[in-house]
Amino acid sequence: MNKTVTSPTNVIFCIGDGMGFEKVKAAGMYAYGEVGQLSFEGFPYQGEVTTHSADSPMTDSAAAATAMATGAKVNNGVISTALPGNGGELYTLLECFKDQGKSTGLVSTTFITHATPAAFGAHEPQRGNLPEIAEGYLNQTRPEVLLGGGGNGMTDTAAETAGYTVVADRDQLRSLNTDKISLVSGQFGDTNLPYEFDGLGDLPHLSEMAATALAILMNNPTGFFLMIEGGRIDHAGHSNDIERNVFETLEFAKTVKVAMDWAKGRGDTLIIVTADHETGGLKVLENNGVGNFPTVSWATGGHTTTNIPVYAWGRNAAHISGVMDNTDFFNVVVHNQSPTK
Ligand SMILES: [Zn+2]
Repeated sequence: MNKTVTSPTNVIFCIGDGMGFEKVKAAGMYAYGEVGQLSFEGFPYQGEVTTHSADSPMTDSAAAATAMATGAKVNNGVISTALPGNGGELYTLLECFKDQGKSTGLVSTTFITHATPAAFGAHEPQRGNLPEIAEGYLNQTRPEVLLGGGGNGMTDTAAETAGYTVVADRDQLRSLNTDKISLVSGQFGDTNLPYEFDGLGDLPHLSEMAATALAILMNNPTGFFLMIEGGRIDHAGHSNDIERNVFETLEFAKTVKVAMDWAKGRGDTLIIVTADHETGGLKVLENNGVGNFPTVSWATGGHTTTNIPVYAWGRNAAHISGVMDNTDFFNVVVHNQSPTK
């Protein structure tokens, strides 16, 4: 093997926004009546992650995703820009893999310009600069695949002008010729995707978007980087809603299963499953068995400072164990380096 190559050929980076340990537990109890059965809970390497941002013990999604994408701590609200610092662009995992000739993709259940995907594919001093974030995707980093909710700075005209094929619902997503197409912008509805618990109508599930993304990205023999976000676990946490929290987490776990089934038997792929922070201060009080929501308590309508889980499988995954910081992912993924304690 070439000693200078330390990155996996393919990286699938899965983020459950707001998915703390107790969210995982609650979803497992509802679906299986016990903990440990969700797809990623069987991964061979597991640990926990500290999440503070540069200016607060309590991170937001922008600072946390920037830390994961670039290895640098920034202030809350900042999208892969050196703040504090000189305000320059911070080099992201997506850009690093793109520079290696690989294809890249961003998939989320939030609108696609939301903070977590933005930190991988754009650079802005403020997460609210949505048209600028869309512009960063379409004209700077140009991921081959952008699938998520629409609106919020993203438009079909802008995407088409930049050479993207736009799809707006599940049927259009399914009808793509994934062997041939590159540059796809999925703009599903005009905001976040609906909650799983409420039904998605003619819009695609996260697992369907991920399957299509993989089918497109795998056409590049050099490999790919794909970030997949279960973005609405966080929203259900903010509203202390256990039903929607469980359903979002289960769809996220199903999506990871799609990635696992794709990567199974390959030695060249890394799958990381983690969160950006915990939301709601959820505590599971009682397991009520399969098909019943557990009895829980919530501590807040905001984020918490608690450590979040990480699960890893495949190439470079053995570096994931014990307690690491969210800035450690970049070196694990790119340089095959263990977190520095
Ligand atoms: Zn949040």
